[in-house]
Amino acid sequence: MMSLFSKIREHEQVVFCNDESTGLKAIIAIHSTRLGPALGGCRMLPYASEEEALEDVLRLSKGMTYKCAAADVDFGGGKAVIIGDPARDKTPELFRAFGQFVESLNGRFYTGTDMGTTPEDFVHSLRETNCIVGVDEVYGGSGDSSVPTAQGVIYGLQATNQALSGSDDLGNKCYSIQGLGKVGFKVAERLLEEGADLYVTDINQKAIERLLSKAKILGAGVKVLSSEEIYQANADVFVPCAMGGIINDQTIEQLTVKAVVGSANNQLLKLRHGQILKEKGILFAPDYIVNSGGLIQVADELYTPNKERVLQKTKAIYNSLLHIYEFANTSGITTIEAANEFCEKRIEARSRRNSFFSHMKRPKWAVRT
Ligand code: NAD
Repeated sequence: MMSLFSKIREHEQVVFCNDESTGLKAIIAIHSTRLGPALGGCRMLPYASEEEALEDVLRLSKGMTYKCAAADVDFGGGKAVIIGDPARDKTPELFRAFGQFVESLNGRFYTGTDMGTTPEDFVHSLRETNCIVGVDEVYGGSGDSSVPTAQGVIYGLQATNQALSGSDDLGNKCYSIQGLGKVGFKVAERLLEEGADLYVTDINQKAIERLLSKAKILGAGVKVLSSEEIYQANADVFVPCAMGGIINDQTIEQLTVKAVVGSANNQLLKLRHGQILKEKGILFAPDYIVNSGGLIQVADELYTPNKERVLQKTKAIYNSLLHIYEFANTSGITTIEAANEFCEKRIEARSRRNSFFSHMKRPKWAVRT
């Protein structure tokens, strides 16, 4: 059997949190604080086993190290999971107990909402620790992160158009959008305003109707497709804004687009699907770079909130992507490999300077009232 320490050998610290009085069973994983305190959301899921929860938190916290490096924020990678059913097991006391464990890490770990948790849950944790991000503005947080995330997707599309055709113009092109939720709708709206044509799909009819009324006002062209048809749409760029794993053996066969640029997390089912896209001549914009606007916003909570500054910072996504496309091209590797290498080099280069900060100072907003 694999020893526990060999399982967690890439991680700095893994904390098992057990609070009998509230029933809290959580795991906090700190993958790296080389660029600053670890940052990552807290999931709540009814994991089938403790091993599954541990594997999830180890994988996700490592991903956050890369995501923070790519987004150029002074944070490292971490993540937390609460083992439990979000529909049944949530209580204010459970989230306060969780907050106490976060506080015990003394500024090494910052967290907030993720799958199965809401910003409201962390208002309870906030009573125990200041190391909480992404709560509502009335509680001193930065609120809805889908605005900068959508803006980041727009920069991603512009950079990709630039790489493909030498112009970052968004109009006069056709996009196929999967998911018209908080992010996808905002992206669709902006593309329509720029004069683009859209194919869209969503399993929620209300989301479709909302976009169709917007398109009617603008006199723009939107074609609605089913969940299965979206992969075959005759579009220039596929924009996945719903769920992960949608670039797989079945869907790649159907894609005729020139590029894939969207907000969904973990779009490639397996790393090898990045290679297949490359062989088909489809440019893949690494998802963790395209969708980093939300992370940029919560990391910016370190300073006094300023929405304009956050949107300014998301502009970096444009240049990062162009750099990664160029690097992948000259090195003959996939764009996801290029992104990972880019992040590893940045961690190496920055860690000496950043680690000083992460260990020596408490973030300014730790005194937020
Ligand atoms: P959301 O839940 O608001 O929207 C998702 C939309 O996708 C919903 O309208 C839903 O009906 C639709 N959908 C679900 N399954 C579908 C299917 N099979 N076919 C078509 N549509 C389907 O989520 P969101 O906040 O807009 O996020 C979208 C994606 O971006 C998610 O993968 C999320 O993890 C990722 N992301 C979001 C943010 C953020 O700031 N909100 C940040 C980073 C990454």
